[in-house]
Amino acid sequence: MDFSHFRDIPIIDSHVHFVHPERMDELLALMDEAHHSRANLVCIPNPDATTHNPAALYFKEHHPDRVYLSGALEYASALADRAHASQILAGQVPALKARGFDGLKLIEGKPQVRKLLPLPLDGPEYAGLWAALESEQFPVVCHVADPDEFWDAERCPDWARSGGWDYSDSSYPSKEDLYTEMDHILARHPNLKITFAHFYFLSTDLARAARFLDAHPNVCFDLAPHIGMYHDFSRDPGSARDFFLRYSDRILYGTDMDTRVLARGAEGLAFMRSIPWLIRSFLETPGSFTINGSELNGLGLPPRVLEQIYHANFERIYHP
Ligand SMILES: [Zn+2]
Repeated sequence: MDFSHFRDIPIIDSHVHFVHPERMDELLALMDEAHHSRANLVCIPNPDATTHNPAALYFKEHHPDRVYLSGALEYASALADRAHASQILAGQVPALKARGFDGLKLIEGKPQVRKLLPLPLDGPEYAGLWAALESEQFPVVCHVADPDEFWDAERCPDWARSGGWDYSDSSYPSKEDLYTEMDHILARHPNLKITFAHFYFLSTDLARAARFLDAHPNVCFDLAPHIGMYHDFSRDPGSARDFFLRYSDRILYGTDMDTRVLARGAEGLAFMRSIPWLIRSFLETPGSFTINGSELNGLGLPPRVLEQIYHANFERIYHP
C-alpha cells in the first residue's frame, strides 16, 4: 500500500499487540512502511496466567526509541488471595513503573474476559488499582464493551463467534452493565488518565460519545478500528468531522496491529498493512476514498488537528 501521499507528521501508534519476540523485525518494518515513529505495546493477560509483558520488555530492550509499554496485570496471586486482591493489584502499578512500563492496559472490560475473571471493574478487588492509577497518574488504555453485533446471535459475525465473542446467551455482562461499572469508577476517580480503546464502541452514537467526553474531561478515545467503526463515521461525514474538530485533543491514533494476526501469513500481513492506510485515509482525505471495494468518506482534517491525533495527545498523556 502506498503511504507516500499522506502528510509528513510524526505518528505514535497508541494501540499495538506484540506477542511474538521473533516477529519484532517484521513489526518494525510495518511501522516504517506506515511512517509510525513509535508504538505503544499494549499487553494483556493470557488465560494460562502468563502475560504479554515479557515480549514487550524484550522489544523495549532492543529498540527503546521505538516503543512505549503498557503492561498487563498478573492475576495468579490476587485470585489466590481474594481478601488482599485490592492491595496485590494496586502494588503492580509501582512495580510495572519500576520495570520500565509507561502505563497499563486493561482488557478486563471486554465481555469475554470480564466473564472469565469474575471481578466487577468497580468492585472491591480493583478499588486499590484505580486509586493507585489516579494518584500515580499512570496512564491506562481500557477495552470496555465490544461491537453491538456481538450480543446478537443473528448479527454476530462468524469470525467473532469463533473467537469466543458471541455474547448472546446472557451469561455475559451487557454493554450497558459495563458502561455502568465504568461510570462508577470515573465518578470516584475523575483524574484518571484513561484512554478507551476502539472509540469506546460509540461510533454509532456520536451524540452519546460527545456527552461522555464532556462529562469526563480527562478521558480520551483511541481510533483502533472495530468492525464497522469507519463505516459508521463515514455515513455522516459532516457530523464526524465536527466531532473530530471539537474533540481533537481527546482522540488518539491507534491501529490494533497484532503479531498474532501477522502469524497467519500473507493474508494477515495484508490486513495489518491496510489498517494504517484506512485510518490515515479517513483522517486526511477530503472526500471519498476506496478500500477493499468499499467507498468511505474522509474528513480532510487540517494539519493542526492531525498533529494532535497523531502524536501530541499521546505525548501530553505519557510525558506530563
Ligand atoms: Zn487491541
